[in-house]
Amino acid sequence: MAAPDPKIVEELRQLRDRINHHNRLYYVEDNPEISDAEFDRLFDRLLEIEKQHPELVTPDSPSHRVGFAPSVRFEPLAHRLPMLSLQKVTSSEEFDEFDRRVREGLEISGDADYVTEPKLDGLAVELIYEDGFFVRGATRGDGAVGENITPNLKTIKNIPLRLSDDAAGRYPLLEVRGEVIMRRTAFAKLNEYLVEQNLAPLANPRNGAAGSLRQLDPSVTARRPLIFYAYGISDTTLPGLESQSQAAEFLKSQGFAVHQLVNQAKGAKQVAAAFDKLAGVRERLDYDIDGMVIKVDRFLDQTLLGQISRAPRWAVAWKFAAEEATTVLEGVEFSVGRTGIVTPVAKLKPVRVGGVVVSNASLHNQDELRALDARIGDTVVVRRAGDVIPEVVSVLTEKRPPKAKTVRFPAGCPSCGTEIVRPEGEAAHRCLNAACPAQLEGRLFHFASKGGLDIEGLGGKLARQLIAQGLVKDPSDLFFITKERLLPLDLMAEKRASNLVAAIDRSRGTELPKIIYALGIVGVGEAAARLLAEHFVSFERLEKAGLEELTQIQGIGPVMAENIRGYFSNDGNRQMLAKLRKGGLKFADYKKSVAGNRLNGKAFVITGSLSKPRNHFKNIIEQNGGRVSGSVSAKTDYVLAGADPGSKLTKARKLGVPILDESRFEQLLG
Ligand SMILES: [Zn+2]
Repeated sequence: MAAPDPKIVEELRQLRDRINHHNRLYYVEDNPEISDAEFDRLFDRLLEIEKQHPELVTPDSPSHRVGFAPSVRFEPLAHRLPMLSLQKVTSSEEFDEFDRRVREGLEISGDADYVTEPKLDGLAVELIYEDGFFVRGATRGDGAVGENITPNLKTIKNIPLRLSDDAAGRYPLLEVRGEVIMRRTAFAKLNEYLVEQNLAPLANPRNGAAGSLRQLDPSVTARRPLIFYAYGISDTTLPGLESQSQAAEFLKSQGFAVHQLVNQAKGAKQVAAAFDKLAGVRERLDYDIDGMVIKVDRFLDQTLLGQISRAPRWAVAWKFAAEEATTVLEGVEFSVGRTGIVTPVAKLKPVRVGGVVVSNASLHNQDELRALDARIGDTVVVRRAGDVIPEVVSVLTEKRPPKAKTVRFPAGCPSCGTEIVRPEGEAAHRCLNAACPAQLEGRLFHFASKGGLDIEGLGGKLARQLIAQGLVKDPSDLFFITKERLLPLDLMAEKRASNLVAAIDRSRGTELPKIIYALGIVGVGEAAARLLAEHFVSFERLEKAGLEELTQIQGIGPVMAENIRGYFSNDGNRQMLAKLRKGGLKFADYKKSVAGNRLNGKAFVITGSLSKPRNHFKNIIEQNGGRVSGSVSAKTDYVLAGADPGSKLTKARKLGVPILDESRFEQLLG
């Protein structure tokens, strides 16, 4: 056998790193950074390479898993029978191919019997009934072991807590599987509430369901409007239940909600018709579905077909295609990001795609722009898949008006005019001017963002002004800004200037992971920054770290390690770091906050100015099982108060709510 191409080996290694990283964000932290579509693309590429080079499949490849290891916050609960994930198809041709394999496997010449059901976009769980009583329940986790979230599941009102005596007698052990979802209307209400309480809104109903279900405090889950839909039973050898459709009837008879669009279908034609029908009603449903699940009906046939490593051969998920719409290209702007990449952005006549209004779409880079040959005035097709940035996918040239204008990629940076270059091996053009205002603005904005130093009041507009006025040449200049120098700026009243200076001052105590993230090292997101802080503990050690040590950290790939090394060996960056120190940014050693349950179920209100940003305290409270709300009421257990606390403190006193300062808060945590 020929030695494998080192490029392929490297790509595979990076894919594994990235998939593991994003899996972790998705399943463990409920905080995905990329869309499902983007994730699927990575995973598909991994499977493709592994298929071509089976010799390169490592024991730790994410392809062996169907999900990810459970969060450490909940007790693990092993599934008696694994919860598999599904293969997917995206067209009727691909489904026909699946159907052909099914018929071949079952050795039948006629139509196969299927059950079709909507693929609900929520969180998959398993409920265990012993002697008729609901005793335990878990998330899917990695398919083998999930998280024990029994108390939370018990709060979901449409989950039966016991079966009929007859069913209990027949099935002393029954494992029911299904999906927990949140309706769109309920999700919108929940987000309104979260915003009101000064808490971060959730990205979509799936996150709403997952986040609500995985609350450490079941009383929080209980207040969330969750619904459970049963889609099957784990054990297909139970007497009297011989098919998927029989199991569905049985579950209904026991009080489980089974989706009304679960139907039987004979052969590929009927399945395709059911799929079209489902796609037609999709927008009218009050919850998100992302396709249809098709299962071979008879359990005996399922057993005959069996499974390949991570998916059954008797079921498939037929996903809806990305959504598209046509509109007019009104212009193209070139934007410069914080790393200097110049991206062409299509300015579109606003159009609804997949439920949202789109007026900007990415044209990616010069090659894509050329290949597409979109001209101003053209009618174009815009696609939006899941929550990814919309893109222009094609041009309807037959609709091109006679005077449609060709788009030229600029020779100079649209912000600073410096000639832009395309580094070898890259698709993107870059402005390499380190002092480029657009890049600076992006870096400053990133530096001050929530995930970074969290400097309240420093938005994009103000960042632009600070740079235009020459007050800030790099983020470290923020620490030398005085109120007097801010006042001459537009819209900068006395109060706003003092607030900004105070916010900058508070950020001097920012914890290490956020500082690392704020630096904007290419590829280093919030999760990677945390890994680095956990590994190195001190910032000085990170600065001096060599490639070898960096790549040994689980979750830091070779490319990211190069970027980190490159960042710290750059003179300009070193000067800026020195200035950050001089300006009073503390770079305190990382203290891993010990998550626990000392604050379980306790409701906190935070008020006044504290030594660190409020988010810092909010995180600690939540990691210890407590929660934070925006206003004081009789249900508040503690008020954490800093300097100048204002009316919340008065109210707390009136209601007799205990008031803590920072040191008493720490005592409470032990
Ligand atoms: Zn520039």
